[in-house]
Amino acid sequence: MSKGYSFLDQISDAKETWRIRVRICRMWKAVNKRSGNNFISLDMIFIDEKKNLMHAIVRKNVFQKFSTILREGGTFIISNFKVIVTNKGYRPVSNDLNIIFLLTTSVKECNEESELIPMHAFEFATYDCINNRLNDNSYLTDIIGKLTAVGPIEQVHFHNGSTNIRNLQILLPEDKELQISLWDESAETITENDFKEDEGPYIIIVTSTTVKAFKGKLNLNTTSATKVYVNLDITEVFELIDRYKVVEDEYDNVVRSIPARDKKPKSESELILQTTMSLAEIKALEWVEGVKERFFTCYADIVNIETEFGWNYISCQLCKRKVKQQNNMFWCNSCNSESQFPMPSYKLQIQVKDHTGTASFVLFDKDAEKIIQKTAMELSSKNQEPNKVPQEIQSLLGKSYTFQIKVDDYNVKEGWKVYTVTSVFKSESNKHLGNVVADNIQIKPSETLFSHDETIANDSIATSDIKLLTSLKDVTDDNLIDDVFGNTQLKDLTKKRTSKQTSNNTGSSQNKKKK
Ligand SMILES: [Zn+2]
Repeated sequence: MSKGYSFLDQISDAKETWRIRVRICRMWKAVNKRSGNNFISLDMIFIDEKKNLMHAIVRKNVFQKFSTILREGGTFIISNFKVIVTNKGYRPVSNDLNIIFLLTTSVKECNEESELIPMHAFEFATYDCINNRLNDNSYLTDIIGKLTAVGPIEQVHFHNGSTNIRNLQILLPEDKELQISLWDESAETITENDFKEDEGPYIIIVTSTTVKAFKGKLNLNTTSATKVYVNLDITEVFELIDRYKVVEDEYDNVVRSIPARDKKPKSESELILQTTMSLAEIKALEWVEGVKERFFTCYADIVNIETEFGWNYISCQLCKRKVKQQNNMFWCNSCNSESQFPMPSYKLQIQVKDHTGTASFVLFDKDAEKIIQKTAMELSSKNQEPNKVPQEIQSLLGKSYTFQIKVDDYNVKEGWKVYTVTSVFKSESNKHLGNVVADNIQIKPSETLFSHDETIANDSIATSDIKLLTSLKDVTDDNLIDDVFGNTQLKDLTKKRTSKQTSNNTGSSQNKKKK
């Protein structure tokens, strides 16, 4: 204790009569994005003279009392508050104690000797730490690195609106590159024009991110707690500027631009504007020299679920490719490492029909998830009879969709008649085929996944094994985010982006398979 104040590493949940002198180094509003951006709480990171950090929360019910006095950067004497031990997800600092403001809490701004308290402190994660936090949202992640590339602001559409995203690339102090997606307001914290060619290096700090995978690489995503700082006045930044300012090549510190990431159709109406064909026309397409793949739109009804090869496969949580079971672990050839949290992904083959005939389509993970409205993990964990096709999949029968499919060499040169779906929307035009007959929705108990393909038959995994996997990791942790940031929107968006990743990856793994 100094001058009657406790340091943040001295307080506990044992009493409510603490008195602290702290700076608010970061402050943000937690809102529920699912229900009209409703305000949940005012959240802050407190820092004391000893650089201890703690998360403090002013809940909605007491917000009025403190809204005018609290400000980011200010120093305050605060007393009579509640201290709780938290085990919630999305903790912005490693300290598991939270300060909760009460109506009886006293707050006084105090600028005397405020220079003793640092303006900022962060808990920068190492590359290994970031890797360990993949899809684990217990703690939010702060990073520092040299900015190497900036993308444009892009709009991402989801079921009831759209939001902005801007992608960045940074070089971590360990010389590893990392992608960061700035969502919502964070996308506007920097612009492409902020970074002059001859004035680098630019050292960027991004706080309170979640760690996901995109196209097989780690990708950090901002939350409502995120702050973005460029060339901030702190030692860690000066050290990196010193390290990078002497360059071998004059372009070493130039911030490159990233092309727009999103090329996938965003709505049914956008899809309809593209080349529409009947199933008969698609099947009659001939090989054209120099054209590797073409995309077409068609309307069709699902008339059969072709489940002789199962409806899912065990995938690597990072790159979404198929993993092999070896002894007691799962191995990802693509990542060349053990897959820590393998999970089921959809590979669903369907027969579709329009007025010109029928065709077979295959839907990969995110497109199948979109029309089934459950993840493959959810379906396989609740599916008590692994040899039966879940009701959710059976109920697709008779439904009409607008599909975008890919026609490539696999189809027009090698003669395969199964077309890969690259995008799907529920068809707004309600036409029905009448009675749909489905006689092929039972999987033979002896069948294993992919048994039709010799190259991967040896490492195929029975559908019944999938149930074991669900105990490995609860991938629906994301629901917790509502508790802290009300960030369901972010969760949905993350799913959206993963859907692009899936179609791309499965496309390329299929290419490999062909050779
Ligand atoms: Zn992998």
